[in-house]
Formats: sequence, C-alpha cells, structure tokens
Amino acid sequence: MEGKSNKNSDTQVAVVGAGLVGSLEACMLAQRGYDVHLYEYREDIRTLEHVPGRSINLAMSVRGRTALRHIGVEDSIIAHHAIPMRARMIHRPDGSTAAIPYNKDGQCIYSVGRRFVNEVLLTKAESFPNVTCHFQHRLTAMDITTRTMTFTNPTTEETNTRTADLIIGCDGAFSAVRKEMLKRANLNYSQNYIPHGYMELCIPADKHGEFAMPPNYLHIWPRGEYMMIALPNQDKSWTVTLFMPFNIFESLTSPQILMNFFQQNYPDAIPLIGEEKLVKDFFANKGLPMISVKCSPYHVGSSCLLLGDAAHAMVPFYGQGMNCGMEDCLVFDELLTKLDYDLSLVLPAYSAKRNPDAEAIVDLAMYNYVEMRDMVNSRWFLLRKKLDNF
Ligand code: FAD
Repeated sequence: MEGKSNKNSDTQVAVVGAGLVGSLEACMLAQRGYDVHLYEYREDIRTLEHVPGRSINLAMSVRGRTALRHIGVEDSIIAHHAIPMRARMIHRPDGSTAAIPYNKDGQCIYSVGRRFVNEVLLTKAESFPNVTCHFQHRLTAMDITTRTMTFTNPTTEETNTRTADLIIGCDGAFSAVRKEMLKRANLNYSQNYIPHGYMELCIPADKHGEFAMPPNYLHIWPRGEYMMIALPNQDKSWTVTLFMPFNIFESLTSPQILMNFFQQNYPDAIPLIGEEKLVKDFFANKGLPMISVKCSPYHVGSSCLLLGDAAHAMVPFYGQGMNCGMEDCLVFDELLTKLDYDLSLVLPAYSAKRNPDAEAIVDLAMYNYVEMRDMVNSRWFLLRKKLDNF
C-alpha cells in the first residue's frame, strides 16, 4: 500500500478494545509499520459458540466500506457476506406496506453481521507480523504520565502491567481509557441516556428456508412513541429491534398484554415472528439502554487517543455509530501520513478535525430519534422526508 512505512517499528501502540473499531485500527497501524498490541477484555470471539452483547446485525454505509477497502477486506465482507438494502419498507398499522428507495441512483446500504465483521477484522489484524493480540485482558487501571496500563484477566483475576508509546482507547461507550483521561483537566465530557430502550427479537426463515419478507429492504414499523425495524441476516432470518420507552416495556407484564400490544401496533409481525416465539423471546429479554456520549478533545498530549464509541457513542437511529468509528480510523491514518507520523502533531490535529464532524453525527442521531418517534402522526410526504435520514 502507498505510504507504507517501516520507520515506525520502534513505536509501540496499545489498542485497547478489539471490537469493530479497535480491530480495524490495529490493521491500519500495522500497515504503517507500528508495533501494535491489541488488548481485548473478552475471549477471542472466533472461539466462542455464542457471543453475548449488542445488536446482531448493523447497517453499513459508504463510510464503513471505504475504511474496510483501505485494509483490503471490503470484498470479503460486502461482496460475499452483506445483504444490500436498497429501500426502506414501511409497514403501516393496517398491515399495508410501501417502499421508499434510498436514492434514485440505486445506491444502498448493507446489512452485515457484527460478529462476522469483527472476526474478519481480527483475522486480518493477526495476519500482520507486527500485531499481537491479547485476549482476556481487561484494562483496569492506567497511568497516562508513564503510559502504563494494568490489565486483569476476567477469569483468573491475575493482573499484568504493560507500557506503550501511544495508547488508543477503542473500548466502547463505557471506555476505561476515557475514564482515566477524564481525571485530567481540560477534557469536556457529557453523556445522555434516552427514555427509550431496545430489545432484539427474531423473524425466522419461512418453512421453505427462505426470507419471510422481501429481503433487500430495511423494514420499518413507525408507531409514534414506538418503532420497530428489521434487518436481514445471511441465514434468511431477520433481526427485529423493538424501540420503546422503558415504562412501556415494564407495562407488558403478561403474554396476553404483550399480544394485545402487538395486535394493536404490529399485527403483521405476529405471524412472521410466531406467537409462541414472540412471547418466549420477549420475556427472556429486557429493554436495553441507549447512551449518547460527547467528549473533547479526543487526546492527551502524544500519549493517549480515543476512537469509535469511546469518543462519541450515539443513539442508533441514524445507523452510523460503527460507520463513523471506522471513518475515525481513516481520518487518523490520513493525518499520520500528512504529518509524517509525528504523534505530537497528529493527535491534536485529529481532535481538531474530527470533533466537530463526530459531534454533528451524534446530534443528528439524537435529532432523528426525536423525529422518528413522531412519524406516525405526520402526513405521508413528511414521513418520506424524515425517513431520508435513516
Ligand atoms: P464496541 O463495539 O463497544 O467495542 C468495544 C470493545 O472493547 C469490545 O470488544 C469490548 O469487549 C472491549 N472493551 C470494553 N472495555 C474494555 C476494557 N476495559 N479493556 C479491554 N477491552 C475492553 N452502528 C452502525 O453504524 N450501524 C447500525 O446499524 C448500528 N446499529 C446499532 C443498533 C444498536 C441497537 C446499537 C446499540 C448500536 C448500533 N450501532 C450501529 C452502533 C455500533 O454498534 C457502535 O457504534 C460500534 O459497535 C462501535 O464500535 P467500537 O469498536 O467503538 O465499540
């Protein structure tokens, strides 16, 4: 790749968190010749049967694709394992549907599996001789001045201490790296929980093993205060996400009350999910919170930097959290080459360039949350306009 450099091999970079952003960032740094150590709290997900955690599939847009292309994995993810969604399919309360294309030129977004993308990125990271992965390493303490990190093994509780020239926090919305950075002056921080929660349900493949709804759409059931969406999976099932206020989740206390609620709001989804499965899955789960995070700057000196949700977690109504985090890696990579790998220049330049853009997306996501709640009361042409954002 153009601009590949080996002059960085004496610089050790610790990337904390091997989720979607951390594993991508490890690849980008490896391409630039750094000595990269990737530390992850969880076990290696490639060895697990079931990976607990957030959303099963995600909408990937051009921002995410561009970043994947930069490390040569776009094709293995998009061409072979992503499902194009060319339009939204709106499900009205009477069961009728209407498609709204994303644009006239046939551009689309893609439904991708979180686990699959993460596994491809981990395997790619490990393919570089200058990347070492450390699983079951939970960052539990950090001294920014000495660039020292303490990791605890979640199973054995054993701890070990490591140092690095640069520490990059890619450890998500509840970032331990950010927590340590906040102990310093001059770092602004705010977080916001919204009154809505989300729950993932599932529409299985139909009896012929095919998609139970037309597959190349992001299906949306807008219902005023509530909303439900569905994204297609490779195995012909759908991941359905129900968004509603926590007090509504709490009010659905029995199978009968749940079924009445679905009859009233999502009657066409009942046969698709199956009554028994709906009741079983709903009561086996609970509404999960959604948080929005802003902080600035994203760095401390030349020693510490935040990327992805650690820097700017956002509510998922714009479908851009992962995409924006992946774009962070690209922006950082561009500045590394532009400023000749001088970290004392690159880190402040990154904060200055990225902060306004990332905060704009955080705000847009929150704006879309408020807008989409009201969709059902809007006239149809207004609904169309609002949906142009999702
Ligand atoms: P994470 O995915 O949170 O990864 C952080 C990693 O750090 C994890 O592996 C974690 O185990 C590890 N870690 C945490 N703490 C420590 C520690 N102390 N030490 C070591 N490791 C640690 N985005 C989109 O672009 N499109 C979508 O359609 C979309 N849909 C979404 C739907 C829902 C319901 C939700 C909740 C989010 C959605 N998002 C979407 C947002 C997306 O999930 C996030 O933006 C993305 O996961 C951020 O990636 P990340 O690597 O920064 O953080």
